[in-house]
Amino acid sequence: MAARKIVIVGGVAGGASAATRARRMNEQAEIIVFERGEYVSFANCGLPYYVGNSIQEREKLLLATPETFKRDFNIDVRTRHEVTAILPEKRQVSVFDHQTGKRFQESYDRLILSPGAEPFVPAWDGTGRFNVFTLRDVPDSDRIKSYVDHHHPEQAVVIGAGFIGLEMVEALRERGIGVSLVELQPQVLPPLDPELTYPVERAMRDQGVRIHLSAAVLNLEDDGERVRGVLLADGQRLEADLVLISIGVRPSVELAREAGLELGKSGAIACDAFSRTSDERIYAVGDAAEVRHQLLDAPTWIPLAGPANRAGRLAGEHAATGSSRAPAPVAGTAIVRVFDTVAAITGLSFRHAQRLGLDADAAYSLRGHHAGYYPGAQEMILKLIYERGSRRVLGAQAVGGRGVDKRIDVVAACLHFGGTIDDLAGFDLAYAPPFGAAKDPLHIAAFVAQNQADGLCSGVAPGDPADLSGQILDVRTEAEIALGTLDGAIRIPISELRARLDELDRGRPVYVLCGVGQRAYNAARILKQNGFPEVFTLSGGFKMWQHSSAVHAG
Ligand code: FAD
Repeated sequence: MAARKIVIVGGVAGGASAATRARRMNEQAEIIVFERGEYVSFANCGLPYYVGNSIQEREKLLLATPETFKRDFNIDVRTRHEVTAILPEKRQVSVFDHQTGKRFQESYDRLILSPGAEPFVPAWDGTGRFNVFTLRDVPDSDRIKSYVDHHHPEQAVVIGAGFIGLEMVEALRERGIGVSLVELQPQVLPPLDPELTYPVERAMRDQGVRIHLSAAVLNLEDDGERVRGVLLADGQRLEADLVLISIGVRPSVELAREAGLELGKSGAIACDAFSRTSDERIYAVGDAAEVRHQLLDAPTWIPLAGPANRAGRLAGEHAATGSSRAPAPVAGTAIVRVFDTVAAITGLSFRHAQRLGLDADAAYSLRGHHAGYYPGAQEMILKLIYERGSRRVLGAQAVGGRGVDKRIDVVAACLHFGGTIDDLAGFDLAYAPPFGAAKDPLHIAAFVAQNQADGLCSGVAPGDPADLSGQILDVRTEAEIALGTLDGAIRIPISELRARLDELDRGRPVYVLCGVGQRAYNAARILKQNGFPEVFTLSGGFKMWQHSSAVHAG
């Protein structure tokens, strides 16, 4: 193998993976990693749990050190070294050594950029105060932890209800701090469809978290020494001893931009199939780079740890040997736990698919995560999104407790292979009562999708723009309906439906509602076979529709 000099910018997820793979593939290569911060190869994803004290030993976050890189891999890792410019025509980088204050140039044969992303911080007053934080690296988590330990804040405001925001809500509550959560969107976890996020919201409210949705932060209230509150556009003031800003990140592209490398439409660094930038000697991976989207088959930006690690590994191999497999497209599979509630997504949400103009439909399964007769089944809501004509699976979301991860990962695998709802319906999944059901919740969702796609029934998903003008038929029992139904619903329990068909108008569409969708499907089959031409089930049942504006308390 030819000796090559490989320089890597950034020594965490993508950078560390690139460096070690490069070494495994090329023992002769000279490999240098420049890392601006004090630490390399740390577990960013573990930081919220360290703040919340679930991870107690700080060293556990540090997966490797410059010494272990040298000892185990003969890789030269230089921390506190910031790459300040790339000079592509000279094949050099300019480096600033923060320890000595010296600047120097380093040459490369191949350069791998993995500089990550920067938290976005608006131009509010007081963002530099000692009680206002973002969370990106180990020193950030040290600062938050030390502030909590020494200043004993009573009230925190977390701005932004994305994945990191929610993990920090949990961490701060676990430290005994009162938490207000502020989100600009009308829901928490904006990548998910809204009805999947209500259980997450409820879990936080049950833990005393005050949630402000559709709420814009106007400014922070800075008294000249520290921030005392968060001011919302609607005039509210939220008391704050600690503020965490987690409203998203931006790809770190300055080095690439200034070096004239092409940026993609997303704003991240554009790459070819092997993570090479517009200069083929320079690779870009991780949060700074675009990846290919599994479903859109187009470049996109998905700042997550898995894609960064996988692309880094392959870029390291390519840089070291001149060839590698191409990183697989990315479906954006992500998961979060807030207290005991777990929410996850893979692929497109229903809303996203509709925005793209795809002819998408959704199927739900609301069941226990394993057989109901075996003790301990936890409720799980699963939403499967697919394309009507091609029957291709487009994505899935799940919320519940145990077993959410498994279902989403199975759908992620299905997406990887371009699978259909028929593939999913036939997947041979592991089953014993403590783990699943002979008809797994995933199978049920796929069966519902097949029934819809085959024309056995038509579903209307919450959020579908279809208007419900016609007859809404609620087939639940009176006791269930007493807790609420949709406005104007005709109430005929399914056990009486065959005898009371004349109470419905065959000339108008019927929208059938039940608890979770199963009885509505059975009722729809009765109606269809009794001459009702237009019958729709309200997908997911009252559980999913109860937050719609058309709800009427029983
Ligand atoms: P990073 O891992 O951020 O590494 C970039 C490094 O480059 C940084 O250390 C930076 O100091 C260095 N650098 C930047 N510019 C320069 C320069 N000019 N010179 C030298 N060094 C430079 N993802 C998930 O999939 N699941 C999770 O549960 C999850 N949880 C997360 C929790 C937190 C708190 C955070 C912050 C992120 C989380 N992520 C999670 C996202 C995940 O950590 C990132 O997607 C991943 O780390 C990106 O890898 P990267 O190599 O692109 O960037």
